Amino acid sequence: MTDTVLVTGATGFIAKHIVAELLRQGYAVRGTARDAAKGLDIAQKAMARAGVDATRLSMVAADLTRDEGWDAAASGCRYAMHVASPFPITQPADADEVVRPAREGTLRVLRAAAKAGAPRVVLTSSTVAVMYTASHEPGHVYSEADWTDTTRSDITPYIISKTLAERAAWAFVRENGGAPELAVVNPGFVQGPALDPDLSTSLEVQHLMGKGAYPGAPRIEFPVADVRDVAEIHVKAMTNPAAAGERFIAANGTATLYGIGQQIAAALPDLARKVPRFEMPDVMVRGLAVVDKRLRTVLPELGVVRVCSNAKARETLGHEFRSPETAIRDAALSLRALKII
Ligand code: NDP
Repeated sequence: MTDTVLVTGATGFIAKHIVAELLRQGYAVRGTARDAAKGLDIAQKAMARAGVDATRLSMVAADLTRDEGWDAAASGCRYAMHVASPFPITQPADADEVVRPAREGTLRVLRAAAKAGAPRVVLTSSTVAVMYTASHEPGHVYSEADWTDTTRSDITPYIISKTLAERAAWAFVRENGGAPELAVVNPGFVQGPALDPDLSTSLEVQHLMGKGAYPGAPRIEFPVADVRDVAEIHVKAMTNPAAAGERFIAANGTATLYGIGQQIAAALPDLARKVPRFEMPDVMVRGLAVVDKRLRTVLPELGVVRVCSNAKARETLGHEFRSPETAIRDAALSLRALKII
């Protein structure tokens, strides 16, 4: 019998690639979306663009902030991929706006998966749940052993939401006998091809750069992941016996914001005058942040380089990563094919 996999937030950028990978591998997929009919339409169109047969894809309604729908969503599913979580481009003033759906939604999915007797849940966390440790030695390379300290005063509500959601998931499986096994994927900033024009925050950055929204880029740098790697790692972590009880960093190398712009221009030379043309001196960013509130969240990141090791995904899951250049270029080319930039 075909195994069915629950994929939460199946309208999202990463989730659609996970759904495509599962369908390609012969699984049936039950997605969740806040609006099931709209969600099914979005996911089916994305599968058509990916050249994947969506016959075995269905969609049910469930919201991370409400109990209704989750038991029915998980019932009969062999595995669950919990991908949905708020990922806003601007940070809310009230951290609870993102923390509550992230943490409580994770617990709702885990409870429903436990009731359904699913043997394993894969959770999409983030490298942001890894890299903002209380302290570290200079040159420290972050690994799955590192955890973000949510009491730090310089981190965003989103970072707090991802860390507390992941912590809650580990506590749930530790404290509840008979809970599913848990495997966690911690992606860096995800690039790679979009399957439709409904962009995640991480591709919205390319969209804004391509439209000329940023003449200069602040000096920030972060780990980068290709969405295809992120999807494949989720599916490997779902069945590999050695993945149970483990976190996996899914990122390969880093990119600067300025570098992303330059790579967009290399892929699409007509955008050379639109993408950021210089790196802004930190003092300039600090000055602008006095009037532009959105810039304040980047101030603690200026000039900081955080490097993550992906050795565990390579060694335990046998995964070979695409380069950051491939991820950024293919994102840009997909946005051009979709007529977005
Ligand atoms: P998207 O914004 O494309 O997807 C987010 C998904 O979460 C959407 O399907 C959205 O559904 C769903 N969602 C948000 N709030 C709720 C809610 N209250 N109830 C139900 N569903 C909700 O983002 P990504 O695909 O980029 O992100 C997917 C996951 O990957 C997230 O957990 C994110 O934190 C994580 N991640 C992303 C990275 C990146 O760079 N893109 C990096 C590291 C981790 P709807 O369509 O209804 O809004």
